Amino acid sequence: MRRWNGWGDDATTYPLPESAAQYLEARIGVGPRLEDASLERVLANIPAARLSPHPHLSTDPEDRLRHARGQSLPDWVALRSGRVGVFPDGVAYPACDEDVRALLDYARRTGTRLIPYGGGTSVVGHINPLPGGAPVLTLDLSRLNRLLELDEISRLATFEAGIAGPEIEKRLNARGYTLGHYPQSFEYSTLGGWIATRSSGQQSYYYGRIENLFAGGHVETPLGALDLPPHPASAAGPDLCQMILGSEGRLGLITRAILRVRPLPEEESFHAFFFHDWESGAAAVREIAQAGLKLSMMRLSNALETTTTLALSGNESLVEWANRGLSFLQYDDGRCLLIAGFTAEKRGKAAREQFAAAREVIRAHGGLWTGTPIGKMWKKSRFLTPYLRNTLWERGYALDTLETAVPWSSVLPTAEETQKVIREGLADPSTGSGQGIGERVLVFAHLSHMYKDGAGIYVTYLYRRAADASASLTCACGTGAGRASSDETLRRWQVLKGAASRVIVAHGGTISHQHGVGLDHAPYLTAEKGELGMQLLEAARRTFDPQGVLNPGKLLED
Ligand SMILES: Cc1cc2nc3c(=O)[nH]c(=O)nc-3n(C[C@H](O)[C@H](O)[C@H](O)COP(=O)(O)OP(=O)(O)OC[C@H]3O[C@@H](n4cnc5c(N)ncnc54)[C@H](O)[C@@H]3O)c2cc1C
Repeated sequence: MRRWNGWGDDATTYPLPESAAQYLEARIGVGPRLEDASLERVLANIPAARLSPHPHLSTDPEDRLRHARGQSLPDWVALRSGRVGVFPDGVAYPACDEDVRALLDYARRTGTRLIPYGGGTSVVGHINPLPGGAPVLTLDLSRLNRLLELDEISRLATFEAGIAGPEIEKRLNARGYTLGHYPQSFEYSTLGGWIATRSSGQQSYYYGRIENLFAGGHVETPLGALDLPPHPASAAGPDLCQMILGSEGRLGLITRAILRVRPLPEEESFHAFFFHDWESGAAAVREIAQAGLKLSMMRLSNALETTTTLALSGNESLVEWANRGLSFLQYDDGRCLLIAGFTAEKRGKAAREQFAAAREVIRAHGGLWTGTPIGKMWKKSRFLTPYLRNTLWERGYALDTLETAVPWSSVLPTAEETQKVIREGLADPSTGSGQGIGERVLVFAHLSHMYKDGAGIYVTYLYRRAADASASLTCACGTGAGRASSDETLRRWQVLKGAASRVIVAHGGTISHQHGVGLDHAPYLTAEKGELGMQLLEAARRTFDPQGVLNPGKLLED
């Protein structure tokens, strides 16, 4: 069964090997072992639902709890501490457009707010109900899960939008096709969620981001239906598909999507290369991207991520073998790992030439090819890694990630400064930001998505959960006395996330390359879109949803 207060299926765990625990303890200290709130305790405190009766509604407390929060760090703090705050008053499971229309109508008549819900894997607060007088109903779209049509001549597949990643691939693979969209949340995230958040998959360098795959579809809005026919290209004014992409449940409910699919590839492999340093690795991946060489992914870790990934992998013998061999070849402490995927629709010379050309660029920048064992390990654990967050939390560590994209000329300085403010964010007040408490933060980064003009930067950071609130010596929001340790864990995150977001904005980076805006990034959106741009987005929202029924407070601050 899916965990209610963490990631994934509770039958799956990702144990932390003893050597990895020692690695973390040496870097950020021993994590405190703290007890989480029990399911029973949280359920006992859920307030009564404020909804008028409707045949499609569930007001079951566990249903409401399971739809109250996503996967952001504030969500984890809330769920694990049992201090969830606001719950949806009910959950509905529409199974067709008519059900969706009936629920939109119900919401308009009763003054209820509706939150579209795909897989609930948002990491920026997209699906959280907010405090307020109006009742809140979450629309879980998981029953909209059918493949409706596969047009093999046009290579277009029409799916209902509540379908999750594995089911999409299962149904397409059975017919010899693939979508190739693999976000790390693949196990649970859904087609509608991907479109509504402008998601990017791990192999989007080859298959394209969701905006390249989304050809059209159907949206139910409070003012009626919007059909988006699939044109291969069109000069008929601005593209309305682009309006729906990234709409975060504010304009309507996407009930169907038409997707560009491909035949299953005949060849696919994942290779590991090591560079002497991050700068040469970055120069190599830029050259490959700008030459348009057809790999399927490139993920370039910096030196600390390389060391940490190998340390946490749990595969001690492989890691020791790799470390010894690399040091012998003078790939020392600054070594950086590149995982490069190679995917080809047709096996043959033309495909192999692309890979050979990329290898040549890597070699010219001092990169060392180590074959496929590390790449195979990466592929095997690509959807398992998020389970490590459960283990880390239980060992006293909070883990979060953030991301941006900037032009190539800004990639290295933006990555460097973002990590610096996080690394120093909880340090001693005399040397740090003034929010410090003498805590160390482990922070590292990789370049995750490459384009001709720039790259996505993905930053991961870990810090210790607060054992008690008195650890907050310089808290700006109170004395610390009497507050819960969860408040202090959250405050630490606010300090780090705020500092990093400000650096990203100052470097002209997007506040999100792939996770979207939700609640956590909304304060930074105006810096990116400008006042006029925000007015345009707000006008679109008012046009589709004049009564403000849909997902208040997300994307646009209400
Ligand atoms: C461990 C982990 C790894 C992740 N890795 C990636 C990654 O590699 N790439 C990436 O892009 N993201 C990633 N994410 C973020 C998240 O998975 C994506 O934002 C995803 O697209 C959300 O999909 P969902 O179905 O879970 O949507 P939800 O979280 O349920 O909803 C997200 C938003 O979309 C809206 N929405 C959902 N369905 C619909 C619909 N049918 N119509 C209208 N609005 C809708 C909701 O109202 C909400 O605003 C990751 C998250 C986690 C927890």
